[in-house]
Amino acid sequence: MGSEIQEIKNTIIQGLPKRVQVAKVEFEGPEVVIYTKNPEIITENGDLIRDLAKDIRKRIIIRSDRSVLMEPENSIKKIQEIVPEDAKITDISFDDVTCEVIIEARKPGLVIGKYGSTSREIVKNTGWAPKILRTPPITSEVIQRVRRTLRKNSKERKKILQTLGNRIHREIPGENEWTRLTALGGFREVGRSSILMQTSNSNILLDCGVNVAGTDDKSSYPYLNVPEFSLDNLDAVIISHAHLDHSGFLPYLYHYGYEGPVYCTTPTRDLMTLLQLDHIDIAHREDNPLPFNIKHVKKSIKHTITLDYGEVTDIAPDIRLTLHNAGHILGSAITHMHIGDGQHNFVYTGDFKYERSRLLEPAVAKFPRIESMVMESTYGGHEDVQPTRNEAEKELIKTIYNTLQRGGKVLVPVFAVGRAQEIMIVLEEYIRNGIIDEVPVYIDGMIWEATAIHTARPEYLSKDLRDQIFHMGKNPFMSEVFHKVNGGNERQSIVEGDPCIILSTSGMLTGGNSVDYFKWLCEDEKNSIIFVGYQSEGTLGRRLQKGWKEIPLKEEGKTNVYNVKMQIKTVHGFSGHSDRKQLMDYVRRLSPKPEKIMVCHGDNYKTLDLASSIYRTYKIETKTPMNLETIRIQ
Ligand SMILES: [Zn+2]
Repeated sequence: MGSEIQEIKNTIIQGLPKRVQVAKVEFEGPEVVIYTKNPEIITENGDLIRDLAKDIRKRIIIRSDRSVLMEPENSIKKIQEIVPEDAKITDISFDDVTCEVIIEARKPGLVIGKYGSTSREIVKNTGWAPKILRTPPITSEVIQRVRRTLRKNSKERKKILQTLGNRIHREIPGENEWTRLTALGGFREVGRSSILMQTSNSNILLDCGVNVAGTDDKSSYPYLNVPEFSLDNLDAVIISHAHLDHSGFLPYLYHYGYEGPVYCTTPTRDLMTLLQLDHIDIAHREDNPLPFNIKHVKKSIKHTITLDYGEVTDIAPDIRLTLHNAGHILGSAITHMHIGDGQHNFVYTGDFKYERSRLLEPAVAKFPRIESMVMESTYGGHEDVQPTRNEAEKELIKTIYNTLQRGGKVLVPVFAVGRAQEIMIVLEEYIRNGIIDEVPVYIDGMIWEATAIHTARPEYLSKDLRDQIFHMGKNPFMSEVFHKVNGGNERQSIVEGDPCIILSTSGMLTGGNSVDYFKWLCEDEKNSIIFVGYQSEGTLGRRLQKGWKEIPLKEEGKTNVYNVKMQIKTVHGFSGHSDRKQLMDYVRRLSPKPEKIMVCHGDNYKTLDLASSIYRTYKIETKTPMNLETIRIQ
């Protein structure tokens, strides 16, 4: 065991008042856990732990020694006495391994209490350290599944975290001397994002995506077979956000024996689980199985360490990680890494949006320090200027209004995560304000589950939404205008019924229920289809945008031709990516300015276009690496 661990333990024990009986001090991943026989002394002296944590620069968790825990049955009674009924507790369970009581409640804030007063009462009275979770107002199967997996595997998880604690605090031969990045995927292309960051002491993988449009293994997955990459030496994987082009290949690492941690935000963990499971499911149905399965998704859940925005965490002996809001989808993060003893600071933007949306705040542009940065360039071409949100909303509402006026139905094919919820918020507001008629909005497929995950994490939403949810008690996702579609028969009655709005996956009409809706609705000129997201070349969505009027579709072995009479409309401006102007604005507003920017995640010419504009405008050195290139950044 490294002497650093011993040193930290000594500092803690010396820093606590003599009357605190410390049973043991353990490392669980990046955190330090103190087990004590009198937790009330520590919890009542909040400053004590805050000062200690500052001293050792780690997060400290206090738990009771097993000997002072109250019987579960009595503890439940006690907790119900202490917590106000308004908190609406839905479940209480006990974790013997960590000596925690897991309390799930509709209003977790009331279980915590003012400045943590209620939760301190629970510790004082029962000994159990409360772990408080929000019960989402819309039931999410994925969240239930993730929580169940963690609860059932608590013992294994503790072992994983202890092993990791030792690895993070291992002794290293000397100061960090250099840092280099190797582009493993997602450079001069969109898809399969992955970057290997190596210092003289550690190895970190940033994102591990798939290219869902890839035609074979060579174009679908990142280049993990390079000599630099080794699963055994990998200290950590960081996932910027849940989209499959950033997270889809993660289960593969666990299939091939990776035993280390994944760092991401809680919504990213839940949303990527949803998307990964769906990906496996679709591949299976299309008889095109992936090189991993559900087991490996589960394994990755057990190894995931979730971080909030702004929380500083040691992930290797020489690297501190902080995640910041990226404004792209729920839980999306910009990764900041502090390398060595302040020698270098690196930022990876991932996908980001530098504009306030209905759903999220704009991406963070202020950091303590940055020397080098990797940024995306999806809309990096000089012509990639999008309308503002406001203009986009007006355009969307106008089309919907006209369609409903003439007695038609509106189909919005949409990606399940992000755009769907953004559109839902817009629709709810315009219907509530009476600008469009109060027609039912049908939510089909995975969108409902993704929305449920959004309702579990209101603290990650925009300030406006949080105000609505927390202060006015109005959660727009819970509005009565939204109806979940439960299966095939219901779809039939929806398309035969009165005017309505339908949100359905897939977003590019490449499969899923949106294609069925399209078939039912396309031959009636009263109806409309509205595209709010990017349509790739070769997809049905793109063909409709190009004005195809006769669409041949294969059904049960034969080809039927559909005559498209419905209105086809594309509304730009709802993208979760920054447009060209926002990308340039972001660099202008970055504080402090990096010395070097590497551009990724864009078509070849957009990457080059953005990089040269940044250089010409701001005189910052830029680089546009290709996949497989390595660049030294320190
Ligand atoms: Zn994305």
